[in-house]
Amino acid sequence: MPLKSLHDLMVDEIKDIYHAEKQVTRALPKMIKNTSSPKLKKAFEDHLKETENQVKRLEQIFEELEIPAKGKRCIGMEGIINEGKEKMEEDIGESVLDAALIASAQKVEHYEIASYGTVRTYAEELGFNKIAELLQKTLDEEFKANELLTSIAEKEINYEAINRGEVE
Ligand code: FE
Ligand code: FE
Ligand code: ZN
Repeated sequence: MPLKSLHDLMVDEIKDIYHAEKQVTRALPKMIKNTSSPKLKKAFEDHLKETENQVKRLEQIFEELEIPAKGKRCIGMEGIINEGKEKMEEDIGESVLDAALIASAQKVEHYEIASYGTVRTYAEELGFNKIAELLQKTLDEEFKANELLTSIAEKEINYEAINRGEVE
């Protein structure tokens, strides 16, 4: 599809984030399986449910735009997720892996925050208020997910990785 207007670019970015979110729904179960921290597991489980809802929210947006809900390959998210996978395959200590999973998840959140922030602004500027509202809801969730990960890292995981990482 040619990108001749900001509207075209907005649609293109929505398709990108749609595929990105779908990848996240497939990656999170693996992260849930690989963490040994109950707190982190719970955070991932909660965010998985949230992410499934974010996918539905995007489908609502496609409906608003009267175009089929179809993603466009998001290579950015693919890369972030693949780097996370590499860590899981590494010879790595339990709590160090938890720290690595958080690092990877935060890269995911930051990618999403950048995308949703940008597209939300396009939607606002182009007069799609309902769509802007839906995007803002997801953006708020991504911010919160990111903050929770920071606090789990700083209160628990990094501390454990410091204390147990070296003896493993
Ligand atoms: Fe998301
Ligand atoms: Fe992308
Ligand atoms: Zn997210």
